[in-house]
Amino acid sequence: MGGGTAGWMTAASLCKFLKNLHVRIRLIESEQIGTVGVGEATIPPIMEFIRALGVDENDCIRKTQSTFKLGIEFRDWTRLGHSYMHPFGQTGLEMGPVAFSAYWLKARRAGKASRLEDYSLQAAAAYSGKFMRPVPAANSPLAGITYALHFDASLFARYLRAFAEGRGVERTEGRVKSVSLKPEDGFIDALTLESGERIEADLYIDCSGFRGLLIEDALHTGYEHWNHWLPCDRAAAVPCERSGPLSSYTRATAKTAGWQWRIPLQHRVGNGYVYSSGFVSDTLAQDELLASIEGKALADPLKLQFATGRRKRFWNKNCVAIGLSSGFLEPLESTSIHLIQRGITMLLTLFPDRNFRTAEIDRYNKIFTAEYERVRDFLILHYSQTERDDGELWRYCRNVPLPDSLQERIDLFRSHGRILREDFELFPAQSWLYVMVGQNIMPQSDDPLVDILDPALVEDNLTNIRNVVRQCAEAMPLHEDFIRQNCPAVAVPG
Ligand SMILES: Cc1cc2nc3c(=O)[nH]c(=O)nc-3n(C[C@H](O)[C@H](O)[C@H](O)COP(=O)(O)OP(=O)(O)OC[C@H]3O[C@@H](n4cnc5c(N)ncnc54)[C@H](O)[C@@H]3O)c2cc1C
Repeated sequence: MGGGTAGWMTAASLCKFLKNLHVRIRLIESEQIGTVGVGEATIPPIMEFIRALGVDENDCIRKTQSTFKLGIEFRDWTRLGHSYMHPFGQTGLEMGPVAFSAYWLKARRAGKASRLEDYSLQAAAAYSGKFMRPVPAANSPLAGITYALHFDASLFARYLRAFAEGRGVERTEGRVKSVSLKPEDGFIDALTLESGERIEADLYIDCSGFRGLLIEDALHTGYEHWNHWLPCDRAAAVPCERSGPLSSYTRATAKTAGWQWRIPLQHRVGNGYVYSSGFVSDTLAQDELLASIEGKALADPLKLQFATGRRKRFWNKNCVAIGLSSGFLEPLESTSIHLIQRGITMLLTLFPDRNFRTAEIDRYNKIFTAEYERVRDFLILHYSQTERDDGELWRYCRNVPLPDSLQERIDLFRSHGRILREDFELFPAQSWLYVMVGQNIMPQSDDPLVDILDPALVEDNLTNIRNVVRQCAEAMPLHEDFIRQNCPAVAVPG
C-alpha cells in the first residue's frame, strides 16, 4: 500500500528475493495523493541495497541525477561560526589494542594532534570537492573509501518501479477508500478502492506515508511522540540552481529555529529548512529559506508537517509499516531511507507464513524499537550539546532532560573518552566520536590504556596518517570530473 520511496523499495526487494516463493505482489498507489516528494540524502548502506538488487550502480546514478556523498558538514551547531564534518568510513588507525580515538584525544589535549577530520580521507576529499570509488591499494585509505548518494527521490522511486514492474509486481492506480478487518482476530481482511475493487492479501505492507492508513487508521496501533526531545515539526523545501563546484557532501546549517539542508544533485540543489513551529512562523521560515539559497529557485517551496516519534508497533497482526507510516525522525543524519531498508531486511529475515506467529512479530518490533531509539539519541546529541544561546529553540534544547540511554553515552565519553556501542547499531563508534567532539564535549581524563604506547610513536603515527590522507585526497579526481567520466545524468524524462 503506497508507491513512495518506501513502497517501491519494498516492492523491488520482495520481487527480487521472494522470486522462488511464487508470491503475488501488488502495489496500490494514488497519483492524486502523490508522495512526500523529499528524501534525497542517504547513508552508505544504500549502496548495499542497490548492489543487492543486482542493478548497475552507474545506471542507477545516471537515471536518478545522483551525486556521491562522503559525509555531512554541520555548520553553526556548536556555536555560530563553528563547523565540523561527520564523514563516513574509517578515521585513523588503531595502535595495537588502543583505539584511534583514545590516543588522538590524548594527543589533542597535549596540542600534538590536529582536528579529527585531518585523519579521514572522506573528510579531506569532501572538503576539497574530490571523489572516487575505492581502489585495490593495499594499506591505503583509497581502498576503503566509503560513500552514499544524493538522489532525486521521485526519480529513484521511478527507477525502482521499472525494476519491480519488470519482475512481475502489479501496480494498481487508485485510492484506497476503506479497510475491512476480520471479525475473529482483527487482522486486515481487504482494502476497497474508490473504484469499488476489493483487494485481499495475506500480508499487507503499509507504505502509505505519515498517515499510516493501515497500521493506524485501520489497526489503531498508537504512536509514541518524541517532539519534547526533537521539537522540529515542519519543513519547507525548495530546489534551486547550483552555483559553484559540485560538492560531495550534505550540508546542515543550524538556524535560529531549526536547520537548513543543502543537497547537491547533478541537475539542481535541494534545500530545506527544518524548523519548530513553536519558535518561528511558517512565513518567516519560508522567507529565511528563500533568502539563503545559492541560486534561482526552481519551484515554489513545498510545505511539510511531521510528528517526530515512532509507531508503538511496527508490525501489528498481518500488517508491517515501512517508511513514514512506521514513524519519523527528522533528516539531520539522513536516516529515514535507511530505516526503510532495515525494515525490508528484517521482514525478509523474519518472513511470516500465514500463521503470523508472535515470536517473529515480537522480535521485529523489539529490534526496530531499538534502531529507532538509537537514531533518536544520535539526533538529540546534536541539539542538546550546543553552546548556542541566540534563540528560544537552542535554549530549550540545552535544558531538556535527555533520555537515559543518551545520558549514559555522554557520561561515558566525558569520563575517559569511551564510546558505547550496542550490537547491530547503525552508526559506528567514529560517528559518535565526530559528533561528540564536534559539539565540544571534552573527556575529563584520558583512557589509561594509551599509556602503553610510546608517545614519540604516537606522534609519528599521527603525522603519517595525516600526510597519507592529504596525499590521497590530492590524488583523487574532482567529484564533478568523476561523475562526467563515469555516470553523467541522462536527461530527466517529463
Ligand atoms: C522534510 C523531510 C526531509 C527528508 N529528507 C530525507 C533525507 O534527506 N534522507 C532520507 O533518508 N529521508 C528523508 N526524508 C524521509 C523520506 O522522505 C521518506 O522516508 C521517504 O520519502 C519515504 O516516504 P514514504 O514512501 O513512506 O511515504 P510517501 O512518499 O508519502 O508515499 C506514500 C504513498 O502512499 C500512497 N497513498 C497514501 N494514501 C493512499 C490512499 N488512500 N490510497 C492510495 N494510495 C495512497 C501515496 O500515493 C504514495 O504513493 C525526509 C522527510 C521529510 C519530511
